[in-house]
Amino acid sequence: SQIFLDGEFVDRENAKLSVFDHGLLYGDGIFEGIRAYDGNVFKLAEHIRRLYDSAKSILLDIPYSQVEMAELVCETVRRNHLSSAYIRLVVTRGTGDLGLNPYTCHGARVFIIAEQLAMFSSSLYEEGIKTVTSPTRRNRTDALNPKIKTLNYLNNILIKMEALAAGANEAIVLNSEGYVVEGSGENIFIVRDGVITTPPCYLGALEGITRATIIDLALELGLTVREQSFTRHDVYVADEVFLTGTAAEMVPVVECDDRTIGDGTPGPITKRLHQVFQLCTRRDGMK
Ligand code: PLP
Repeated sequence: SQIFLDGEFVDRENAKLSVFDHGLLYGDGIFEGIRAYDGNVFKLAEHIRRLYDSAKSILLDIPYSQVEMAELVCETVRRNHLSSAYIRLVVTRGTGDLGLNPYTCHGARVFIIAEQLAMFSSSLYEEGIKTVTSPTRRNRTDALNPKIKTLNYLNNILIKMEALAAGANEAIVLNSEGYVVEGSGENIFIVRDGVITTPPCYLGALEGITRATIIDLALELGLTVREQSFTRHDVYVADEVFLTGTAAEMVPVVECDDRTIGDGTPGPITKRLHQVFQLCTRRDGMK
């Protein structure tokens, strides 16, 4: 595959960064996961905006304008002759001295990868996934605001490992007050008596672009959507639960902590939203 790296396209074997890059040494950098469907990059403007917001927040200068960056993302997809792709856009602080001081770095490094990625097997999208709640608590007052998509994903990785160790597909994270926040890399929705609820992001979740898309689509369908805090009890007794994210797309949850959700199969609202989401990914893209 052809990878964009610092101004040029290089073969996969030649896409290399220095061991002195602070992105590697300290997780000092930011990223976006983006998808293309049928040759169109989905919600590109939203992803670019979030990337530049993350950059501003951590005082990282990206050496391209937002328009240039959007074009580079599209070009990476085209060069790899992919119609559907998962795109990883990364900006690191760059190469510097050992030691935390970011001002020793010689400028941000930018790379863009476009490949195929399916987070779960296709049968799980049909049948739904098994989840557990994670013992790891999200602290929403951390300096590292969960709204910033930084390269510090170790907490998320440990949460995913807890899920896999428990024989589940994904874990659900609570914050220190016990409110449900999100999955390891997805936002969460529950449905009860026809009402769709998702936690407000200020509880400690990333402001997911897929989450915003699903809320819009649900409202277009005339469904009731609330942003309201809830606990794991509400997950257990929900009629339907699903997760959303660029990598995972939209995946039904049929089990949480050994409790069967609803009748153990993806519910009608989840299925309906999944249909309109699939249509939307093909309709709202950018060439
Ligand atoms: N939450 C976390 C921690 C994530 O890393 C992601 C993935 O980007 C999401 C939620 C879902 O966000 P989006 O729908 O913008 O991909």
